[in-house]
Amino acid sequence: MPGPLTNSKAINGIPRPIKSDLKSKRIIFEPEHVVRWSFLKVLREFSTLKEFYPEINPYTECYKVRDNTWALFNESFDGAGDVWMYLINGPKKALIVDTSFGVGDLKGLIRHLVGDKEVIVCNTHHHFDHCYGNAQFDTCYCHENEVFDIQSKNNPDIWDYLFNQTGETIVVGENEEVKPGEPVYTHFDKKDLIVDLDHKENYKPYNVVGVPDGYEFDLGDGYLVEAVLIPGHSAGQCAYYDKHNGTIFIGDCTGVGGRTAGPHQEFCTVEAMHDALIKLQPRLKDMTGVFPGHGMFDTHPIMLQYLLDTTEQVLKNPENYDKKTEMVRGDHTFVSYTKNIHQWTALRYSPTSVYKNQRK
Ligand SMILES: [Zn+2]
Repeated sequence: MPGPLTNSKAINGIPRPIKSDLKSKRIIFEPEHVVRWSFLKVLREFSTLKEFYPEINPYTECYKVRDNTWALFNESFDGAGDVWMYLINGPKKALIVDTSFGVGDLKGLIRHLVGDKEVIVCNTHHHFDHCYGNAQFDTCYCHENEVFDIQSKNNPDIWDYLFNQTGETIVVGENEEVKPGEPVYTHFDKKDLIVDLDHKENYKPYNVVGVPDGYEFDLGDGYLVEAVLIPGHSAGQCAYYDKHNGTIFIGDCTGVGGRTAGPHQEFCTVEAMHDALIKLQPRLKDMTGVFPGHGMFDTHPIMLQYLLDTTEQVLKNPENYDKKTEMVRGDHTFVSYTKNIHQWTALRYSPTSVYKNQRK
């Protein structure tokens, strides 16, 4: 397989930080994906779309992407990528897609943007950067395949990994000393976590409600947002399609097959993603913009066609990857392949997460 021509890791590691007034401050520098970097730099430093309300939520930047829709930006709190949430202000109700890490007052920010409306909280999937803010709400919706995984995050221990738990001062990033109990990846005030980690007994679990593919949320006056299952990254990874604006909020569609235990394994495959995209394909012409959980947003709907093309190529020959990565953990070696997506980033998968019958 052709590899990169240069030592791309060394070049990609050159800091090209983006200026920020956010209260979160990175300890470990995280190079943004090169394709996304320029977009985020120009957007965050110069765009007039930006709204920032530090007195309400100093961790979140808001960008108005449609008359009634905001993209809400959080820096990564754990080194796994900056993340987008999306807020739709419907006629009677509002709907938020994802809740990020749960640092800062998301509920208060939503109220500031849309008023006292009922807020429907939806998750694309169960990963930390997408659903840890759920604990601020009473009820959260997701695809029914995802209920098992979201429930596994419905407890006050999920944030522990963000802090130095070694009991000693450690050095991380560029020689930064981190005392016991302090955040290790990104600085933030522990008091700004939506859950009081010193009194975990006060944690109140929220209700997790699973909905089927095609379920419609009514935001009033016939304003519908549809749950569209696009699995692969997780068993119930779900997009939300605003039928009024033609905007689709897709979550994470670029990495396949996260878990090897639990129900609905066959959905954590390239084939499952492919089948969902085939079903969605006739509707791409009605869409006005694609909004992923990370990186560039409002991208052309044809990107979902390019993603579909990539899944087709992988299904034809999984060994025809662009890049192979091996990671050794203990006595097990994890193999992961990457196949480039035309004009986008890349689809990551493992040789055992291609076909549904590998996971039954
Ligand atoms: Zn993510």
